[in-house]
Amino acid sequence: MRIVIIGAGIIGATLAYALTQRGAEVTIVDAGQPAGGATGASFGWVNASFHADAAHFALRAEGIAAYRRLCHDLALPVAWSGCLCWEEQGAALEAQAADLTALGYRAEILGRAEVKRREPAVQAPEEALFFADEAAVEARDLTRALLDASGARCLFGCPVTRIATKGGRVSGVEIPGGVLQADRVVVAGGTGSAALLAEVDVALPLLHRPGVIFRTQSLPPTLAHVCVAPIGEFRQLPDGSILMPTAVSHQADDSDALAASPDALADAAVARLQKVLPDVPLSWRDVALAQRPVPQDGLPFVGACGPDGLFAGVMHSGITLAPVVAEVLAAQITGQMTNAQAEMIAPYDPVRFQRA
Ligand SMILES: Cc1cc2nc3c(=O)[nH]c(=O)nc-3n(C[C@H](O)[C@H](O)[C@H](O)COP(=O)(O)OP(=O)(O)OC[C@H]3O[C@@H](n4cnc5c(N)ncnc54)[C@H](O)[C@@H]3O)c2cc1C
Repeated sequence: MRIVIIGAGIIGATLAYALTQRGAEVTIVDAGQPAGGATGASFGWVNASFHADAAHFALRAEGIAAYRRLCHDLALPVAWSGCLCWEEQGAALEAQAADLTALGYRAEILGRAEVKRREPAVQAPEEALFFADEAAVEARDLTRALLDASGARCLFGCPVTRIATKGGRVSGVEIPGGVLQADRVVVAGGTGSAALLAEVDVALPLLHRPGVIFRTQSLPPTLAHVCVAPIGEFRQLPDGSILMPTAVSHQADDSDALAASPDALADAAVARLQKVLPDVPLSWRDVALAQRPVPQDGLPFVGACGPDGLFAGVMHSGITLAPVVAEVLAAQITGQMTNAQAEMIAPYDPVRFQRA
């Protein structure tokens, strides 16, 4: 079975790996370079503590489990550091812990002394939650590693201009100078997906969700966890720099425009971070602006759609969800999806946006 995947971000790369593991012949095509879209600008936090509802929690928790499976098979840039979260305090923090525990998630309440012991550089809060199962991934390196491990053929700098169809089913994709023939086509083009899908009468309404993220200069070992504070989320990268989105609670950020220029947003976020890391000399080195692929209802867009042989995988929190979505889509595309997998992705079926 010849499969073309449009998009070499985290979704396309994990899917390429899952499909070649099932024996498919995969070609991946990207208008730019691997992880050149939202993936390369991501915070890289793998978590289920943030979720929309119980089904979304279950999908995200399975996302963490799918990372464990991937890391069992391959050496990948995934750090199982866990997360310290003190966005809330008092009754609100206890309620958050109780909600997550009721869902079967590991959420431990730590007092100030223990937080200080674990993160000595941090201006420790009264209490924090510790999510032991959460991780941080270097999404750019991970994408490259999965593409390499997949053995898929890759075409970069090569925009897909149209999904080709014949007799009501996909036949390939148009690229500069010709057509790549395929039995199945998967649209994993992030914010570029909607335009391609519209041409084959598949509606994918996307929200406008710009995201800004900065890195500091390289520092000696300072932080051990993904840290989630009222001033924002931050973590230290393997190169010593600290990475932080400029929006507080960036996963829930619903601004459709930037409040200021990226450099001004980074200045303000560094000033906030400095209060939490008072003895660490901080300045930002680079700042990135990217568009997050967020479907209109905030939930993933996953599964078969439009002409026979066409599939899509477009979502926010794509770093968390990529491995589980890849497993399920690969099973669906090769006709091996289990009932449990079908149930898990049912709420995210593209059909919900299509006209009757
Ligand atoms: C600031 C920020 C922080 C984030 N933090 C987190 C986080 O902590 N945890 C988390 O889970 N998620 C996070 N996300 C979200 C996550 O990064 C995205 O959901 C994920 O990267 C989407 O991956 P993707 O592969 O679908 O899209 P992308 O990475 O955008 O890749 C799509 C690719 O498709 C290509 N493409 C598009 N159109 C075409 C075309 N016509 N022809 C050929 N190629 C095409 C593009 O060039 C691009 O390379 C964050 C996002 C941002 C911006």
